[in-house]
Amino acid sequence: MTTVIAKVGHGSEMPTAVEIDGFQGPLISADHADYDIARAVWNGAIDRRPRLIARCMGTADVVAAVRFARDNDLEIAIRGGGHNVAGTAVCGDGIVIDLSAMRGVRVDPAERSAWVQGGALWGDVDRETQAHGLATTGGIVSHTGVAGLTLGGGVGWLMRKHGLTVDNLLAVEVVTADGAVLRASEDEHSDLFWALRGGGGNFGVVTSFEFRLHPVGPVLLAGPILWDANDAGDVLRFYRDFVRHAPDELGTVVRFGTAPPLPVIPEELHWRPVMIMGSCYAGPIADGEKALRPLRAFRPPLLDLVGPAPYAGFQSALDSTVPHGWNYYWKSTHLPELRDDLIDVIAGHAFSASSPRSYVALFHLKGAVSRVAEGDTAFGNRHASHAITLDAVWRPGEDYRDRDSAWTREFFAALGRFREGVYVNFLGGDEDANRVREAYGNSVYDRLVDVKTTYDPDNVFHHNQNIRPN
Ligand SMILES: Cc1cc2nc3c(=O)[nH]c(=O)nc-3n(C[C@H](O)[C@H](O)[C@H](O)COP(=O)(O)OP(=O)(O)OC[C@H]3O[C@@H](n4cnc5c(N)ncnc54)[C@H](O)[C@@H]3O)c2cc1C
Repeated sequence: MTTVIAKVGHGSEMPTAVEIDGFQGPLISADHADYDIARAVWNGAIDRRPRLIARCMGTADVVAAVRFARDNDLEIAIRGGGHNVAGTAVCGDGIVIDLSAMRGVRVDPAERSAWVQGGALWGDVDRETQAHGLATTGGIVSHTGVAGLTLGGGVGWLMRKHGLTVDNLLAVEVVTADGAVLRASEDEHSDLFWALRGGGGNFGVVTSFEFRLHPVGPVLLAGPILWDANDAGDVLRFYRDFVRHAPDELGTVVRFGTAPPLPVIPEELHWRPVMIMGSCYAGPIADGEKALRPLRAFRPPLLDLVGPAPYAGFQSALDSTVPHGWNYYWKSTHLPELRDDLIDVIAGHAFSASSPRSYVALFHLKGAVSRVAEGDTAFGNRHASHAITLDAVWRPGEDYRDRDSAWTREFFAALGRFREGVYVNFLGGDEDANRVREAYGNSVYDRLVDVKTTYDPDNVFHHNQNIRPN
């Protein structure tokens, strides 16, 4: 039982001095010099002032923080990497259980597995696993958190070959709403383990993950190909037929927008409207060259940067295009195969944002993602072909918010008749509860409600894409 030495002030009062019995990490409240840095999340449009940020140093701190929050009736937000676009990692008037100091990664090369703490970023995991020529499916931006991404499912370059991140999850350690520390795997609390593989932060605070690893690289064939925006419709039609028969080793993500001013892109192309196909071949380089040949030959691109690249480096190639502190507003949906009329909608809307930083990302799924049966994990809509995100982006002080948020909503409405569910981690902050159900489908959602009712009947963990208990 946690003893509260000094309680947090209630009402609008901010705490001055707080101690949590048994808590060793820093406790950051409004009067702390680091408060504004500690409450900031990736999305600069989120501006919330929690009463307390409890920066945990380990599992015992998480237990102490959960008990303290419950004893004091404080709303809880859980922070992993702080990347969620809806800003669920920070609450307005409660406690943030902040795992950002828990970034340890330990690799067992013989077992091909990795133990990863709940506040690690994908860059931490890639760096340590690649030291052994190993990797697991992670996100395509290295400053994204492992925890939130994994608990929602985890899509990335390697998923068509090696499955979603959750398909590579072996076990977790989790602190539940009553402060218990459980290990969940196929053999222990298997209902909880099932729910954690897609159900997000609804069931507890995950303090560590164990992942299955695969030999990857360290150098593999990867990079972007750029075409002019006017060619987008034709290239997308060719791309549709091309990816239908592409080997599982080939992961592709198409980005529509302007060419970002990256050092690898010649200056004369910066800010030009382009369709960029990023690709990563998780196999021998020569096989990748062969697999990509038809697409590279189809229409002369503006730029072709596909070549041998270190996997860990490629994983961070996009980092500077989506930095912390800019403002972001997303809409997203899963899509079926790209029929001609769907391609017309995409090509017709993708380039009409006002901000030069707004963009659209189209992830190709299938392969190992859809070979796992629907319902085997809590990740829904495995049959879908693509996930699309419509991303309004504006820097602090710029006035694109209204125009480009409207652009994403209009574009999303135009995709209406093609929609096939949604990836829960791509949901924004202004979605209604039906969209959470949409992310899972009815039968998975109903099963998640049962697990939620077992492990968190009071909905202590609700500052998320929430699954309400019965
Ligand atoms: C630039 C960018 C690129 C992205 N690319 C990809 C991608 O390639 N693939 C992909 O699948 N997704 C991607 N995403 C989406 C990403 O999966 C989500 O934003 C995810 O929530 C990020 O995890 P996080 O730990 O950083 O989030 P946070 O904001 O810290 O947490 C989000 C939520 O996850 C839960 N959570 C976090 N940590 C824990 C924990 N330790 N225990 C229990 N619950 C926890 C909580 O409910 C929390 O509210 C991307 C997001 C961004 C912003």
